[in-house]
Amino acid sequence: MRKNIAEIIDISNEVYEKGLVSGKAGNISARFGDVVAITPTLKSLYNLSQEDIVLVDMDANVLTKGKPSSEVNMHLEIYKRRPDVQAIVHTHSPYATGFAFSNKKLKRLEGFGAIKSQYLLDIEYEKPGSDELAKSAGEGLGDEDVLILKNHGVICVSDSLKEAMLLAVFVEETAKTQFITHMLNSVEDGD
Ligand SMILES: [Zn+2]
Repeated sequence: MRKNIAEIIDISNEVYEKGLVSGKAGNISARFGDVVAITPTLKSLYNLSQEDIVLVDMDANVLTKGKPSSEVNMHLEIYKRRPDVQAIVHTHSPYATGFAFSNKKLKRLEGFGAIKSQYLLDIEYEKPGSDELAKSAGEGLGDEDVLILKNHGVICVSDSLKEAMLLAVFVEETAKTQFITHMLNSVEDGD
């Protein structure tokens, strides 16, 4: 388990260093059988220690010291509905979250695996940390790997922490590219 927790710490640092989260935002978890290891509440994802990572069971009972992320129920809801998901990365990465606050949808570009729908799925705003958000996110994700939380952020899921993190990077790059495209299309040619 120590090695697994070390991986959560590494991925948390990487997510922070890549600018996908800032301050104390974002949360990351991984499932190990019936136990989920998750980043703590009210702490930056940067420079977490082994003791900071909180273990919970599938009913959100805390098995270690510390307090899990306020979004722990959202993570558990997804794990319960999706046996294939082993890791979840939730960010407020700026470009993708900009889309989440706008009326523009994010197009699904090559690289998301099988193209199931033209746009990334999204769900309407629910209060962060609420049971409503947990339920809505679990239902809204369906069998997709990315979900946009309107007026909030992004969830990426995968069978490993590394893949979930890479997906979060890819979503942000996709949003950045689409933002630049929107801007260029809105500018008249100068000559
Ligand atoms: Zn959030």
